[in-house]
Amino acid sequence: MNNVFDEKRTIDLLGQLVNIPSPSGYTATIMQFIGSYLKNIGIEYKQTNKGAIIATIEGENNASHRLLTAHVDTLGAMVKEVKANGRLKLAMIGGFKWNAVEGEYCTIHTAQGKKIRGTILLHETTVHVYSNPDAIKRDADHIEVRIDEKCFNADDVRATGIEVGDFVSFDPRFEVIDSGFVKSRHLDDKASTALVLQLVKYIKENDIKLPYTTHFYISNNEEIGYGGNSNIPEQVVEYIAVDMGAIGDGQSSDEYTVSICAKDSSGPYHYELTRHLVELAKTNSIDYKLDIYPNYGSDASAAIRAGFDVKHALFGPGIEASHAYERTHVDSLRATAQLLYTYVISRMDSED
Ligand SMILES: [Zn+2]
Repeated sequence: MNNVFDEKRTIDLLGQLVNIPSPSGYTATIMQFIGSYLKNIGIEYKQTNKGAIIATIEGENNASHRLLTAHVDTLGAMVKEVKANGRLKLAMIGGFKWNAVEGEYCTIHTAQGKKIRGTILLHETTVHVYSNPDAIKRDADHIEVRIDEKCFNADDVRATGIEVGDFVSFDPRFEVIDSGFVKSRHLDDKASTALVLQLVKYIKENDIKLPYTTHFYISNNEEIGYGGNSNIPEQVVEYIAVDMGAIGDGQSSDEYTVSICAKDSSGPYHYELTRHLVELAKTNSIDYKLDIYPNYGSDASAAIRAGFDVKHALFGPGIEASHAYERTHVDSLRATAQLLYTYVISRMDSED
């Protein structure tokens, strides 16, 4: 199992993924990238009408299936209003705080396919003019995009091609540090996506026979709540969301282990399946943390809400400062890769 995690390949792939803009609703390019990745390694897949990709590897047992999902959609924004001063008001896509993107470089994607650069700023940023920027609330009325074009009014902006409804993506600022830290926006959930795609590649390259037919579902609507809640084959018994572990005061998750979620805002995950994951981690000496995420939902809980009769569980790398400028460590990526692999080759808990 030592070679399950290929650090270089995983980090390279993660770097590629975070650098393809994919706010929820604007994911065609990244789904094409994932489609070509799977095609190159000889894995067949289908694409749903909502744009998600499902790749399936047949196992020895084709009657009871497993499904693992990770999502590639990210936080982002949409142009809400072209302001009279030539700047843009934004509407959020996904859940975050404006201060998490204040000062960030961004790209506005116009309907004609132009990419226009800008910076997300508080309107009253400069201390040379405004006496007390700290006191101003960071909200949709005060946060705006300063676009990098000569625009003095709304007509100038419209002349660039920018219109209400254009998607806005935030620069990821991907950086790998010698100490093993990986810093970037959108590690949620592109870190897990990179791990799932690497797992598929590992299974294929090493011709590993899986005990059960297993679906690898790359979803593209998780941040808005309904990523992996459709097109679930009826034979699926176990449904795993591979998604970030939440780190903060009182949390047991960290950047060096795989985080297994016992409960989030949606309620407890399937107890026996969660215990099965914990036992796999223990038996295989994989560093893990069992945790509860206070403000969190996943594609697995979305599938349960949508009425699917599956056993659901959630695990993934610990992500520090999630939904802001995130960070994790290769130790956490390695532990997650190891748990992913031991899980897909394990027997279902009811058959142990
Ligand atoms: Zn996520």
